[in-house]
Amino acid sequence: MKHVDHWIGGALVRGAGRTADVYDPATGQVSGRVALASAEEVDAAVEAAARAFPAWRDASLTKRTQILFRFRELVAAHRDDLAALITAEHGKVRADALGEVARGLEVVEFACGIPHLLKGGYSENVSTRVDSYSIRQPLGVVAGITPFNFPAMVPMWMFPVAIACGNTFVLKPSERDPSASLLLAELWQRAGLPDGVFNVVQGDKVAVDRLLEHPAVRAVSFVGSTPIARYVYETGTAHGKRVQALGGAKNHMLVLPDADLDLAADAAVSAGFGSAGERCMAISVVLAVDPVGDELVAKIVSRVRDLRVGPGDDPESQMGPLVTAAHRDKVASYIDLGVAEGAKLVVDGRETVGRSDGFWLGPTILDHVPPNSRVHREEIFGPVLSIVRVRSYEEGLELINSGEYGNGTAIFTNDGGAARRFQNEVEVGMVGINVPIPVPMAFYSFGGWKASLFGDTHVHGTEGVHFYTRGKVVTSRWLDPSHGGVNLGFPTNA
Ligand code: NAD
Repeated sequence: MKHVDHWIGGALVRGAGRTADVYDPATGQVSGRVALASAEEVDAAVEAAARAFPAWRDASLTKRTQILFRFRELVAAHRDDLAALITAEHGKVRADALGEVARGLEVVEFACGIPHLLKGGYSENVSTRVDSYSIRQPLGVVAGITPFNFPAMVPMWMFPVAIACGNTFVLKPSERDPSASLLLAELWQRAGLPDGVFNVVQGDKVAVDRLLEHPAVRAVSFVGSTPIARYVYETGTAHGKRVQALGGAKNHMLVLPDADLDLAADAAVSAGFGSAGERCMAISVVLAVDPVGDELVAKIVSRVRDLRVGPGDDPESQMGPLVTAAHRDKVASYIDLGVAEGAKLVVDGRETVGRSDGFWLGPTILDHVPPNSRVHREEIFGPVLSIVRVRSYEEGLELINSGEYGNGTAIFTNDGGAARRFQNEVEVGMVGINVPIPVPMAFYSFGGWKASLFGDTHVHGTEGVHFYTRGKVVTSRWLDPSHGGVNLGFPTNA
């Protein structure tokens, strides 16, 4: 049985203490054990990162970008290996696993432009013979704490940018699918990254708490559920660190009566059930504006009945299992809850899979979900799509804006004016117009509003560069010997 360990100072380090089971979600079998770091093991990783920092901070931009380009090539060459590790532990189908590697690679490609991104400004003669200029410098050791649902992409939102900026990095991946982190560490080493610049500690709350307290950790990037994001933000900032903590989500898709309903139905199915709904940008609620609700629901249901649910490594599968038995049970509990709250169960995913092994739940549709229900308000994070019927654009907008979360949203319409009004009025960080999952490209920054983000800086893009550096402004006066002043020994007639 495999054992998933730490990567500290450029080498695998066997965990010395507690472990947790890692599962194959498609079979429900334990496939390995992951080390759970003690505070001392976290200290060893932070110390390795701190030792590597002075030299890496001073590595030239050319050297850094050469390593980043090599890392980019190695990740691209090993995308199938990474995807296989992700599918084996997360359960998502191979196409989704390859997709997350591709999105992570885009951030590496963005970080390859770091010489340009770190350019400061220069103002000559702000006063007589006085110049002023700005530079951005790395922070030191920075940490990333990541969720189970994107074990390669979410860490890659963080560390390419942090490392390109001259920081050293400690990653604490999800203990549920920890293996991709170690392959990424190995690829960094093969790309020529000096030992200690990228480290991995496997673990749970013990490891997270030590990272949040450790005085040498200067900044923490977190992605996960809202309660833990809030806790990480409050604890990390109380210890004087910079923190960006991205939380949970409940994303709506507002379908206006003039929308292309086939396009909207395709989008609702791919965005609702892709990766079994375990995506922070998944569409969880379709707001169908009268009078198109019945027609739209019929189109969604007919597509859902054709979805092929099966193991992630079967090329025929379009949706895999959920990550753990406990998570599957929690998601499934919302089906009975929804019915009890007055929704109509149109497709019951508990009936469609027909497998007893593994953590399965098929695509589920609840129609006529009451707006005040828990099923509408709470993050479910699984393949349960709610349809809420609304009478108008205004009613739909009000439901989105009154929610606790503000991660992503989408409007489907053929009216440019309505779309423009929506992008202006909706209180959400990422907006799609006829695009169901509007994940910003790597050169923009990713982040939500309200309970979907604690802190003010979104990840990757220029906000990521900003998060992982601090600004310095220099004001300098150099006397010119040819214009008199202090004699510095220069020949005045040169
Ligand atoms: P989670 O909050 O349970 O875990 C995230 C990380 O926190 C993991 O590394 C985990 O080990 C650690 N952790 C868990 N409990 C902890 C505790 N009590 N104290 C300290 N650390 C703890 O999240 P998850 O279940 O792995 O991921 C799913 C969640 O992540 C969903 O809510 C989803 O919306 C969210 N998510 C958000 C985004 C975003 O960009 N906003 C992206 C992906 C996932």
